[in-house]
Amino acid sequence: MALPSFLQLTLDLFGGNAAPVVDASNQAAGQQNIAGAATENVAITVSITAVASPPAEPLESVMRPAAFAHPRANREARLGDSIVAFEMRRGKRKTIGFSVGADGLTVSAPRWVPLYEIDKAVQEKSRWIVAKLQEARERQSKLESNRIEWKDGTLVPFLGEQVIVVIDSRHAYTSSPHAASSRGLKADAQAQLHTDAQALPGVPRLTLHISLPQDASPERIRDAVQAWLMRQAKRIFEERLNLYAPQLKVQWTKLSLSSAGTRWGTAKSDGSIRLNWRLIHFRMSVIDYVVVHELSHLRVMDHSPRFWSTVESIMPDYAALRGQLKDDAIPRWE
Ligand SMILES: [Zn+2]
Repeated sequence: MALPSFLQLTLDLFGGNAAPVVDASNQAAGQQNIAGAATENVAITVSITAVASPPAEPLESVMRPAAFAHPRANREARLGDSIVAFEMRRGKRKTIGFSVGADGLTVSAPRWVPLYEIDKAVQEKSRWIVAKLQEARERQSKLESNRIEWKDGTLVPFLGEQVIVVIDSRHAYTSSPHAASSRGLKADAQAQLHTDAQALPGVPRLTLHISLPQDASPERIRDAVQAWLMRQAKRIFEERLNLYAPQLKVQWTKLSLSSAGTRWGTAKSDGSIRLNWRLIHFRMSVIDYVVVHELSHLRVMDHSPRFWSTVESIMPDYAALRGQLKDDAIPRWE
């Protein structure tokens, strides 16, 4: 009969020290513990919990474990100190597979694999799973903290420096709901960058004065800041293209700005270059890396060793700069 070995296996997974509560005086503690036990050991199938209840533990000694829950979770496991509710999918496949995404853990298993084997595989993979879940959570909270609150005094990164957004209602009479998207001189009057040379170390020395009424909506503030950043991006990218094109002996023909969610840059053999305007958040040397990268494509249209040595000929430290181009380093724009 397969059941006894199955029992042994499942108990081993929990350290093998699970003993049934037999002492009647422990009854109250045992009952108190039911809720905690249920969440702790759900991975044990019903037949197990019926046979061997987990040891009674004083509630105060039970640390609240870290919980990771997939929104479509249909099974749970305790992995070290963490309770992981995961999505289990059955399908046509030969092995048990694990994936950790923004939602959490998904376990894919062949239809014929019994549940206890899946639980065992989850336990065996527990270090990897918990590390990946923690990474995903850290990344998510970093993204959250990067969300800009569009109001007076908010900080926006520009060329690697923090810029304080100042809502300047003194000039608000020049604005209209569509002003932020207008172009040319009038738009330039909408936003002005000021530098405070006297700023204390560690205090942002740049302020961006936006001509809007004090009660302007967050969307209007965002649009005004974005319009200004995009104008700066266009101006600075052109300047950098003109600086590096002669060094690489290439000719660029047209610059267009792309938006968030796409790549940092692309180059076509006709000499047209697309750069993501959000590069303007990074310091100049990182922007320069992308500019040199795209210009180098006008000489070598692939990522072969010849391409990278072209980049390196202009920018020996390109690898370090490339490493700083992480999209989670820039704020969310919504
Ligand atoms: Zn490339």
